[in-house]
Amino acid sequence: MASFEALMLLPGMAEIAERLERRVTLHKLWQAADREATLAAVAPNVRAVVSTWATARVDADLMRRLPKLEIVVGFGVGYDHIDAAWAGQHGVVVTHTPGVLDDDVADIAIALTLAATRRLPQAERHLREGRWPSGAFPLTASLHGRVMGIVGLGRIGKAIARRAEAFGLRIAYHGRHKQDGVAYPYYPTALALAEACDILMVAAPGGPQTRHLVDARVLAALGRDGVLVNIARGSLVDEAALIAALSDGVILAAGLDVYEREPSVPAELIALDNAVLLPHVGSATGHSRTAMANLVVDNLLSWVDGKGPLTPTPETPWRR
Ligand code: NAP
Repeated sequence: MASFEALMLLPGMAEIAERLERRVTLHKLWQAADREATLAAVAPNVRAVVSTWATARVDADLMRRLPKLEIVVGFGVGYDHIDAAWAGQHGVVVTHTPGVLDDDVADIAIALTLAATRRLPQAERHLREGRWPSGAFPLTASLHGRVMGIVGLGRIGKAIARRAEAFGLRIAYHGRHKQDGVAYPYYPTALALAEACDILMVAAPGGPQTRHLVDARVLAALGRDGVLVNIARGSLVDEAALIAALSDGVILAAGLDVYEREPSVPAELIALDNAVLLPHVGSATGHSRTAMANLVVDNLLSWVDGKGPLTPTPETPWRR
């Protein structure tokens, strides 16, 4: 029987290829001397695409070139780099890795909230640069008693809310739907949520539907004591508007893990003293990344064994 052939676009965690190669023929596109020629040669028999990073885009143009494509397995819960809508319309299943990274990402969300509000990196620089003997670090804002507005109260948003409540924050949220069984106040727009909160936490998916959901108007509504935290995707926030809002004191501070054009971060943002910037490390722990790698492999092997995908995306629900 012919071996199951899969196309891997970029290298990922070593265990992904190691485990998959025991069961399937893996074409490693990044190793090809001539990417186009290799793709043309393997395309007729490829039945799966393995996308290990958000930079490994799987768009309609690529999928159209793979006539036997059945499944795209993605690494990460966000899959805005995979055209899942097109896949769903063309009978291709897309899987992602939800649930296994929620706690680590929520921890980073709270860390950024604390760091931006209490100016922790700035305070540390004050000490390291020898400025303490010449003067105490200036007073900062505090967290307790404030309202955290969560854009996207999903798996990660709820894990953030649980932690934020322990810090004495009240929670409100925005999503496309008011959720049954959720007691937090619901706001039908990001603008209304921003007006009602002090810390705006962005935890919704990226992609065209949420592009620039946080724009200049939303930042103005958040106000001069407001803090923006984004652990979701850079595309949700209008970065130019954010730079202007931070520069002009329209909002107090921002804590960011994600950017519009990663890994490139605008010099204007880096220069701002009221922005705390992390290099997309929300899920970057050994625990979460190993669980994500295992789920990528388990999804594909479950498919190869005829048992269907384990964690398909909502756009490509699995019906036997
Ligand atoms: P999830 O469980 O699917 O939750 C997403 C939430 O966003 C839902 O509550 C949904 O509510 C809301 N939402 C969806 N579309 C929306 C829209 N157009 N406007 C407003 N709200 C919308 O997803 P999750 O597992 O919590 O992950 C959330 C995101 O975090 C991922 O998509 C990913 O991009 C990001 N992430 C980042 C990192 C990192 O390292 N920084 C790590 C993991 C995940 P409704 O359905 O009611 O709209």
